[in-house]
Amino acid sequence: MKMPLLFHTVPLVVLMAVCATAVGGEAVNVVVIFADDLGYGDLGCYGSPTIRTPQLDRMAAEGLRFTDFYSAAEVCTPSRAALLTGRYPIRSGMCGHRRVLFADSPGGLPPAEITLAEALKPRGYATMHIGKWHLGIHAGGRPLDQGFDRSFGLPYSNDMDARPDLPRGASGWPDPPHDGWNVPLLRDGQVVEQPADQTTLTRRYTEAAVGFIREHKDRPFFLYLAHTFPHVPLFASAAFQGQSRAGIYGDAVEELDWSVGQVLSALSNAGIAERTLVFFTSDNGPWLIMGDQGGSAGLLRDGKGSTWEGGMRVPGIAWMPGRIRPGVTSELAHTMDLLPTALALAGIAPPDGVTLDGADLSPLLFESQALPPRPFFYYRGDQLFACRLGPWKAHFLTQTGYGQPQPEQHDPPLLFHLGRDPSEKRNVAASHSDVLTQIQEVVQAHRQGVVPGAPQLQ
Ligand code: MG
Repeated sequence: MKMPLLFHTVPLVVLMAVCATAVGGEAVNVVVIFADDLGYGDLGCYGSPTIRTPQLDRMAAEGLRFTDFYSAAEVCTPSRAALLTGRYPIRSGMCGHRRVLFADSPGGLPPAEITLAEALKPRGYATMHIGKWHLGIHAGGRPLDQGFDRSFGLPYSNDMDARPDLPRGASGWPDPPHDGWNVPLLRDGQVVEQPADQTTLTRRYTEAAVGFIREHKDRPFFLYLAHTFPHVPLFASAAFQGQSRAGIYGDAVEELDWSVGQVLSALSNAGIAERTLVFFTSDNGPWLIMGDQGGSAGLLRDGKGSTWEGGMRVPGIAWMPGRIRPGVTSELAHTMDLLPTALALAGIAPPDGVTLDGADLSPLLFESQALPPRPFFYYRGDQLFACRLGPWKAHFLTQTGYGQPQPEQHDPPLLFHLGRDPSEKRNVAASHSDVLTQIQEVVQAHRQGVVPGAPQLQ
């Protein structure tokens, strides 16, 4: 029962050697495809009965599909900060009471944070951001300030900067006007279109991604493709409108699926699929209060905004044909693992003096080896709400994603066994006080190691 308290720093050093040789000394390209508000239950390969995702299903069949993959936060901005820095957002200050950055927010990802793009630079990686940014619009926090050579996309969410006369429904916009939001489309920091024509975003992001891949097939690159959808307001190109049984939400996801297929094909056609790690995931769970305009967390409880499983457990698929052994894994992994994994594949040591919260996934991806047991911490804003250790999850605070003004405190904490009870329905704290004690020790150790960054979301 007693589980050793292993943290990422121990295995990371050991595993570097494994990865550097896993690709014959050649630097591996890295492509991260990040959906926005896509739920755990929204893909065919994760059990959606209605949304058709043949490309992602193929990616999963040819790659490794994670059953227990987490985003490091329950909403957009902190989630993106965590993915790009490999750190819990509390450390960078990219979390807080206001939850995300807004168009009028003065803050942003601090320049001192080392992003995945910056970390890969010493090995000559070409870097591009495509899609939603949402990590700051001011000097120091923008894509070109944070290690990206090029950038094409929206500075923040597609529902921000709404036209003042636009009536906002309680659950999204069933028939949104395509010019209802004044959000600009930027290329390398310059506005190229305002308002952005949202019906063509997925197509144009995809064209940009394919172009970047073709152009850089002969040198290592990092592509961060952070889709705008299926975040509301939902749009799809003409070819996908009205095609899905799941309505406009399904149309948007099916176009996203097409986009993934285009990216994978571009890599295969360029002859570089075998030395490119592609990882597909989502920034947080489905926005359930949007009703038909929001997705599904499947059998998981609640969605976006909450630290119940549906808020933070998301689809996670790794693809690298001929290198990754196809299969399904129940190992716990998360978005903060992508930075250490990418660095290991590039043969770069982790940055000096930076506390990372992720582990290198190479042994799991390439050798089917189990990862050392490690805890996962569920933050909402700057507060630690819950902790998972092995199959056990303890909630110290709970709050629905939206609509519940104050969190409910639990002492003793609620305890769920995520194996037997993935929907978090049966609190078993009373009969497992030993597990609670162990989790409380883990949380205490974690808290002692966290130095909160200056808050950026005020
Ligand atoms: Mg989101």
